[in-house]
Amino acid sequence: MSISVELNRITKSFDTTIAVNDVSLTISPGELFFLLGPSGCGKSTLLRVIAGFYRPDAGMLKFDGMEMNNVPPHQRNTGMVFQNYALWPHMTVAENVAYGLVLRKMGKSEREEKIQSVLEMVQMVEYHDRPVNTLSGGQQQRIALARALVIEPSVLLLDEPLSNLDAALRQNLRDEIREIHKRTQITTIYVTHDQIEAISMADRMAIMKDGMFVQVGSPREIYQSPSDAFVASFVGETNFITGNIQNISDGNATIETPIGTLYSERIYHDFSPGQEVSCSIRPETIHLNGNTGINTFSAEIGAVTYLGRVEEYELILSDSLKLKAIIHDPGTKTGVTHDTINISLSPNAVIPLPKND
Ligand code: ATP
Repeated sequence: MSISVELNRITKSFDTTIAVNDVSLTISPGELFFLLGPSGCGKSTLLRVIAGFYRPDAGMLKFDGMEMNNVPPHQRNTGMVFQNYALWPHMTVAENVAYGLVLRKMGKSEREEKIQSVLEMVQMVEYHDRPVNTLSGGQQQRIALARALVIEPSVLLLDEPLSNLDAALRQNLRDEIREIHKRTQITTIYVTHDQIEAISMADRMAIMKDGMFVQVGSPREIYQSPSDAFVASFVGETNFITGNIQNISDGNATIETPIGTLYSERIYHDFSPGQEVSCSIRPETIHLNGNTGINTFSAEIGAVTYLGRVEEYELILSDSLKLKAIIHDPGTKTGVTHDTINISLSPNAVIPLPKND
């Protein structure tokens, strides 16, 4: 049965470092929830608070409404997977996976049944008797996952589980973890600093910075409506044009910028005239050789990088402003370095955001 995880104003410090600073969140039963943020933002500390390895200095953690602050880690029924696998190298696959079941004093035959079934789930049945130090990194991570799943945890906690693996293997394991999550419906909290991993897998995610949540939402909400310039640049790629709000009404605004007036139809913050903003413009929303009247600017083409599926253009608008544009399915060349072209920015893709300090 899936359970909810509730964080109510959780704070955790180490000496003078506030690693997690007053965060609140409810993760729904069965959700695949990501904590995403740069190194040192407090993701692992928060996961360890949920696992019970750290006690919060303030705030309350609840599983399905039950207070957990005073419950020791081994009584929380959480399964945890670490970046470095943390397996016993000279023990076999089966012995490693059995660990949590032995602790629970489960009989041998029942234990063996559960080991078989979980090894099937991670596609490692034939490795049952192999010492884990003879396995590849990807196989060891599958075993670490099996060891966490075999106890049928109420909450699965994954701390950068794919960081030690190469790109192709990471992709495979992402798909497998998603599939296993779909089958088991275990409430899962997954820590990563890899935004592609988070966007491609998460039901919802929290973007963390300096121990706090900057934004919580689905990958689509966060990519398309970032709450500030930090989120816009951390999740996906973006360009920024800085300016000041000129006129504003009904979700539309004109913004005075060094290259001229920009029109935006995407105002979802409470701005006032004169306020300084960073306008986020995703590279894939810039039209080259476009002339829609509004938001049309002249640019010189700088570097052009053909990448097969996409082509990247550096666009020089002034000495201090360069934008990156991405053209999908680049059948023919749009222009070459030093060409001067018109570019246009759809008012729906110009997103003014509060400037970060
Ligand atoms: P990374 O992606 O690099 O693992 P993170 O987002 O998981 O980073 P944390 O490991 O939670 O970040 O660390 C948050 C802050 O708390 C950092 O400034 C870190 O140096 C500090 N910190 C974490 N654990 C301890 C500890 N045991 N003792 C002292 N400071 C710590």
